[in-house]
Amino acid sequence: YSGKTALNFFSDQIKNIKVSDIKSVPVIVDEETTVYDAIVTLFLEDVGTIFVVSDGLLTGVVSRKDFIKSAIGGVEINKVPVGVIMTRMPNIVVVESHESILTAAEKIIEHEVDSLPVVEKCEDNGKMGYKVVGRISKTNITRVFVDLAHND
Ligand code: ADP
Repeated sequence: YSGKTALNFFSDQIKNIKVSDIKSVPVIVDEETTVYDAIVTLFLEDVGTIFVVSDGLLTGVVSRKDFIKSAIGGVEINKVPVGVIMTRMPNIVVVESHESILTAAEKIIEHEVDSLPVVEKCEDNGKMGYKVVGRISKTNITRVFVDLAHND
């Protein structure tokens, strides 16, 4: 076939897969949720990262390390809202559905995070923001790697 190496072929396939093809359902809590309830959600939903919203728009991300930090730092987890301990916008690394999974993987590596919220830009009363429509994690990317290897 057209003189292409197996690696060229692999790379072409990766670039043609969009975030929308492999994204999973996001786990989302409101900024007012207590740290305690967010930790319970983390266990019940079996994820490492939770996306935080206010008025339906993305305001932050909270992950295992943030919870551990707040616990060893003596935060009153039954009283303090998750908004206090999360990583906050505009420091959130996001991806959009139409982007390639290569771009998503590059963002995960460059910013040393486990997952990215998949977002849609939206405007609410003249205020720009992001609606969270999905999640891309290292697991999603690894699954593609395995699927491509088996599809020979
Ligand atoms: P873990 O805490 O399970 O190791 P991460 O390595 O993803 O998970 O998180 C490390 C830090 O980066 C945490 O403070 C978390 O809030 C933050 N973080 C996680 N995902 C993102 C993201 N997409 N954009 C910005 N910061 C993030």
